[in-house]
This record gives sequence, C-alpha cells and structure tokens, in this order.
Amino acid sequence: AHADILAGPVSEALYRRALEAITGGVNSPSRGMEALGGGAPPFIERAEGAYLYDVDGRAYIDYVQAFGALILGHARPEMLRALDEASRRGLLFGACHPGEVQLAERLRQLFPVCEKVRFTASGTEAVMTAVRLARAATGRRVLVKFEGSYHGHFDAVLVGAGSGASTLGLDESAGIPEGIKADVVTLPYNDAPAAERWLEAHGRDAACVLVEPIVGNFGLVEPVPGFLERVARAARAVGALVIFDEVITAFRFRPGPVYVELGVEPDIVTFGKILGGGLPIGGYGARRHIMELVAPAGPVYQDGTWAGHPLSVACALATLDLIGQDAGLYRRLDDLGRALAAGVRDGAARRGVPLVVHQRCGAVSLFFTSEPDVRDFSGVRRTDARAFARFVRAMLRQGILLPPSPYEVWFLSAAHTEREVERTIRAVDAALEAVLDG
Ligand code: PMP
Repeated sequence: AHADILAGPVSEALYRRALEAITGGVNSPSRGMEALGGGAPPFIERAEGAYLYDVDGRAYIDYVQAFGALILGHARPEMLRALDEASRRGLLFGACHPGEVQLAERLRQLFPVCEKVRFTASGTEAVMTAVRLARAATGRRVLVKFEGSYHGHFDAVLVGAGSGASTLGLDESAGIPEGIKADVVTLPYNDAPAAERWLEAHGRDAACVLVEPIVGNFGLVEPVPGFLERVARAARAVGALVIFDEVITAFRFRPGPVYVELGVEPDIVTFGKILGGGLPIGGYGARRHIMELVAPAGPVYQDGTWAGHPLSVACALATLDLIGQDAGLYRRLDDLGRALAAGVRDGAARRGVPLVVHQRCGAVSLFFTSEPDVRDFSGVRRTDARAFARFVRAMLRQGILLPPSPYEVWFLSAAHTEREVERTIRAVDAALEAVLDG
C-alpha cells in the first residue's frame, strides 16, 4: 500500500540483515513499521536531548521516548555521570547493596499505600508478581482487567491485550493455555456499570481488578469521572484487590504515581519505565500485610538475577533527584503539551480532517475519527488506520518520530522546547495534507 521508502540506505541494509537474523527484524514488535504499511524503520545511532540520530545521518524530534520510559531528555549529563560512577563500583553484585535501600525508602514516601516495595527488572515481572500476590492474598483465581490495556507479556495479561499486540491484531496471542484464559475476564474500560454488574454477579471468584488508572496503551484515555472510584468500590465490596498498573503513568504527570492526583488508592501498585531513567526496572508495592506474603517473608515466590540491579538503581536515584530538583518540570510539560495539542487541533480544523486529540501534561494522542470522543478500546478500533499511517509516515519524512501505532502515545520530555513543538506543528500541517491526498 505504501511504496515510499522511509528510512535511508544504511537503515535499509541493516533492516535486511535484521530480518535474516532477528525474528521480524525487531526485538519488540512495537518498533516495527507494520501498522504504517511496512518497510525499514530508522536504525538509531545515538540520542541527545529531544533528538534521535539515525545511521543515515538524519535527525528526528523524538516523541516515542522509548515508549514512555523516558522523560528527562536523552543523554542527560547528570544521568551519564550517575551511571558512570555506579559502573566503576562494579556492574552487578548478586548481593544486597545500599542503593536499593535508599530507593525503596524514597518510593515509600512517594507512593502512599507502599509500606514496602520490591524491585524487578521489568514492568512485566512487576505486574506478573502483583497478580500472583493478589491471588495468594485472596485465595482466588480470577484476574479482571480491561479491553485494550497492556500490562506486559506474561500469559494472563496477553488475553485481550492492547498496545503492540493490538497493532498486529494479536489481541489473542497464540500459545496461551485455555486454563489460563478461563481465569481472565476482560471488561470495557470507562464502563463502571458493566464492571459493577460483573463484580456483583461473579466477583466472589475475583482475586483482583488490574487497571491502568490513565490508559496509555490504546492511546491516552483518561478515566471518566467516577469510573475508578466505582470499580474500586465494587471490587472491594466482593473482597477483590485493586491493582493500579502505573508502569506508564508514574512520574509521567507528577513526581510520583498519578493516583494521588486522581484521588483513588489501589491495594497494590506497579511501576517501572521512567523510574529507571533509561535502564531496565520495574517494581511493585503495597501495605505491609500484603507485601509480607512475598518470599522470604512469606509464601509467594518472586526473585530475579537482575532485580535491584545496581546500575538501574543508581539511574533511578538520579532520576528521582533530577525530577525532584526541577519544580517547574510538569508545568512546562503541560504548557508544551497544551500548545502541541492546540496546534494539531487547529491544523485539523483548518483542513477539515476529523480528529480527536487527547492531552494530559506531556502526553498527547491523536485519533482519526469523526466521533466526538474516544473513551474505550472499541472507540480506538473505529478510528481510521489508513489516515493514521499516512500521517505518521509524512511526519517521519519531516524528521518527527512518532510511535508507529495508533495505540501508542506521544510523549514530550524535559528536553523539548517551544522550538521543537513549533516545528512539529508545522510538520503536522503538511502531514494532514498528506492524509487528505489519500
Ligand atoms: N504495564 C504497562 C501499563 C505498560 O505500558 C507496560 C509496557 N509498555 C508494561 C506493563 C510492561 O513493562 P515492560 O515492557 O517493562 O515489561
């Protein structure tokens, strides 16, 4: 469908080699260009500030931000220094170390309900353990979650999953046993009555309700007023635990979990991404009586060679320092986010392209739809995938790197300025013309 070649010749050549040596040419399907009609993605050589530079010498304003893992800007000198200092003390100990204690103590202060925490190497492991913990704490089987959300790539959460899985139409991954599917229930996001009905009728089998308090995996979709409160109340009324998956949202909108801003508390919270400052990390926390169930304090098993990795922990501490020292950070991200969203809306209105734009702080997402708003996964499914693909390809040609999927969010960073946002808005104008040209 798309004959135009996006990446330069060096990226093209690398992609051909990658296709031979790496399944699908990518180590994470979200990085592929399948949703844009295929072709080589730009191969990145280095990153600095708000920019990525590819092997063909092209620069891109980066709105992917490692799929939400970054917020401070690429190659921040303070982060590089923290990493350098930590690495000189050794890369991995396989033993307890001071940094993990400091980091745990700081997270206890930032995350109400976290009387204790545990670190893992990824968000997937954090959510996987949180679900196991909820099942152990309640003695129940069923995991309740929401259509189109993404919580990592272990079996149970790939049933009805969003994000990269939806991009490829793999909302039902192959290889998941029927027995695991039988214990997962997927409900529509933002439909409190549906969740209440299900929980009232069947909730006594429910171990937990797992939810992204603000969705970042079928675009950016905020909970409608009352949704989280009603779901949490209905879950607790039947003795199920509430897990907020804040792997994307923690530190994205404020210096801590977003649930503090939303006014609803979970029983267990998971985090990851931004905290690691570019290194792999994940974790979960809860009140003492729940966390004490985890081994060696209790019978729920979780460990990991990389858990509490000294380099990840050093980068996490540096991230918390940098976020903590920059009092105006989230205000600036919100100003830039608003300007970007307004510019995109203006351009779409001027050209008569039906478009819904969601924005919160430095997170923005576009939905090519003539419906008045998008509130759930089915709404995103009804958006115009071809218009989206043409738009993102046109942006890429102008040096603006957007996530190559209608289910992913654009993220601003501390390194983005009005200059990048203005350039982006001008590029949007040309890209919308490409959408209309069809
Ligand atoms: N939960 C959410 C909400 C996520 O967005 C992701 C990753 N996109 C995960 C969990 C899994 O995290 P990781 O990729 O670190 O395993």
